[in-house]
Amino acid sequence: MHFKSLLELLLMVAYLAEDTIAHPPDVIPHTYPPGHDPKAIAKAMANWRPDHGHQIWTLSGLREGDIMDHNPNSRNVIRDSNKLWFNYTVPYVIQPGLTQYERSEVFKGMNLIMQGSCIKFRPYQYYRDRDYIYLRYDEVGCWSYVGRQGGGGQVVSLARNVPEGTCLYHGVVAHELLHAIGFEHMHNNYNRDDYVWIYYNNIRAGEEHNFLKISPQEYTDYGVPYDYDSVMHYGRTAFSGNGGETIVPKDPNAKTGQQEFVSRRDFLKLNTRYPCNFGK
Ligand SMILES: [Zn+2]
Repeated sequence: MHFKSLLELLLMVAYLAEDTIAHPPDVIPHTYPPGHDPKAIAKAMANWRPDHGHQIWTLSGLREGDIMDHNPNSRNVIRDSNKLWFNYTVPYVIQPGLTQYERSEVFKGMNLIMQGSCIKFRPYQYYRDRDYIYLRYDEVGCWSYVGRQGGGGQVVSLARNVPEGTCLYHGVVAHELLHAIGFEHMHNNYNRDDYVWIYYNNIRAGEEHNFLKISPQEYTDYGVPYDYDSVMHYGRTAFSGNGGETIVPKDPNAKTGQQEFVSRRDFLKLNTRYPCNFGK
């Protein structure tokens, strides 16, 4: 597995010169929801610090913070097989202009996923790919769609327009890429009330919808137990209006809200969704 990941990494390095396209084809249009305030979002993100108890992507102003589903064509792991990526392969285009450091964070984020799974990220090739992810840094916020949308390039937004705490950080990249692969947030899982308390009194007015449970008809955990370590699990003060805690683990030893790695149980789900022995 590690050799394969290393190989993939070398392949990516070989492709470096070709993975940026200024105007990639067939980018799926997106619209921000009513009330979306880019200036306020950029300001909140600029003021974010890692010790705030919530991850930066929660500030992006979309459903659950960072999920784009206002795509007019849009029809904890999505069940819909139409939203699988073909051949475990997620083609990508990176908007030109990132620094070498920012690019290395993007590739680190991809490798966090590839090193424990059979998912492959590789540069988009116009003669063989229709669908791909388009990594942009000039939108507002860090966000993604859930699953492959179909019909062209789907944006994964990794904003860089803030001086510190941008979305171009390996764990944030991995989080948004897992959305694109088909993951929802852990704390929205149907069984979350067995594992966390939601303190509604501390939630900022109007943000309660971010704590709705997702439908087990649409999403499955494949029987993998609830995962405090998941990179898809929010921190303790997500969407807090008063600084108080909003998502509190019932296990007193549990730590939540990491944005550094893909957890063992994240991989268990990913490797069930995309089983490595498929077709062999
Ligand atoms: Zn997210």
